[in-house]
Amino acid sequence: MAVLTKAPRGTQDILPSESYKWNYIEQTILELASQYGFNEVRVPTFEHTELFNRSVGDTTDVVQKEMYTFEDKGGRSITLRPEGTAGTVRCMIEHGLFNEAMPLRASYVTSCFRYEKPQAGRLREFHQFGVEMFGSSSAAADAEVISLASQIFDTLGISDISLEINSIGCPECRKKYHEALKAYFKSNEESLCETCKGRLDKNPMRILDCKSPVCKEISKDAPIILDYLCDDCKEHFESLKARLDALGIEYTVNGRIVRGLDYYTRTVFEFISNNIGAQGTVCGGGRYDGLVEMLGGPKTPALGFGMGLERLLLVMEKSGCPFPERAGCNIYIGSMGEKASIKAAQLTAMLRREGFNAQSDVVGRSVKAQMKYADKIAAEYSCIIGDNELDEGVVKVKKMATGEEFKVSLNESVGDIPDMLSFVYDSVMHTAMLNMNSAVESFGNIE
Ligand code: ATP
Ligand code: MG
Repeated sequence: MAVLTKAPRGTQDILPSESYKWNYIEQTILELASQYGFNEVRVPTFEHTELFNRSVGDTTDVVQKEMYTFEDKGGRSITLRPEGTAGTVRCMIEHGLFNEAMPLRASYVTSCFRYEKPQAGRLREFHQFGVEMFGSSSAAADAEVISLASQIFDTLGISDISLEINSIGCPECRKKYHEALKAYFKSNEESLCETCKGRLDKNPMRILDCKSPVCKEISKDAPIILDYLCDDCKEHFESLKARLDALGIEYTVNGRIVRGLDYYTRTVFEFISNNIGAQGTVCGGGRYDGLVEMLGGPKTPALGFGMGLERLLLVMEKSGCPFPERAGCNIYIGSMGEKASIKAAQLTAMLRREGFNAQSDVVGRSVKAQMKYADKIAAEYSCIIGDNELDEGVVKVKKMATGEEFKVSLNESVGDIPDMLSFVYDSVMHTAMLNMNSAVESFGNIE
């Protein structure tokens, strides 16, 4: 039955042979985030549906079409999180964190769920790295959050990505803009998609984010909000640009970016790659000064971004970004017979306790099959323990790459260190040092 052997549409398995890339990306990102003072928050995978209806907004695509909503056995309406901000804000309010020192920073790596049409870079379960910063209304905070995203791309070796910024103003300056937008779209009302017809009076800015080709085409000539900003919003935007300039972060202003979630105010931004097809937005974010209060917390300015990790990985693979080598097997200790197999297991256990990747046979295979396996997993060293080796207390360890052989004592200790351990330690560490030296050389002389 296909339902047993095929994952649901729009989901993706990450195989053991690929997960090191994810580990590398996540570790790199979380480390950088912590340099900026962002520590991880972990919130539930599902929340009360109302939380997303309110925060994301009930005229957005996410709420209207994409949420995984169901009734639980207790009759509550529950939704799998479509994004990370709402749950984070709910958590901060619930735990009274807005009474603590500001700014308050939080980050997360998390799965999100949206019922969308699956295609390259668009899944139904996807993963986001996100940050949220609360308690600053200054453009300095916007610049800092953007500079974290930018540093993440730099550090991962992604250069072909561009930053686009916009300001979508505050509720005050948006009033006039909404009127202008309504007037513009009214003249094209007949051609708009059904969803957008419904948005026209309630939230005309949403039409600008509609994915339907016709709505997109009509939106091209719509008035842009930058022409309607109030003095304060204008000043905020100018200050952000000056700060990005000062930090050497390149950007272009794109008056058409509105973002897909209702809670944004003032600054919005996207990092876009031209390398991965139509779903090129790798990171999107902005300011949401009204959200905390709207959800029942104290009035608190805030901002953040979400970075799609599947798209990030696609960009890295497409642009040939380097990944660290996958941690491999340092030594395979093969054996023949029960007694030798136990000896192999003991040595393996000892080496693992010391931090090495050591493997021995747990299948009961022939020596030939064990060696084939050692080859397959690309073990650096291998040996076979049999009756002779047990009797003599010596085993020959082979360096797989060169065929070089080394005699290692099975029983004796060199000082307090078992011979096998000191052998693996010296050989593996020696190789590691050589690799490190060549890496340092490739960076040139570090003064
Ligand atoms: P898009 O316009 O591509 O639908 P969005 O505006 O809905 O994006 P956000 O809600 O801002 O996206 O989410 C932030 C980031 O999360 C996106 O820039 C993207 O990298 C990623 N993302 C969003 N939806 C998906 C999805 N269905 N599959 C994979 N990644 C996604
Ligand atoms: Mg979307």
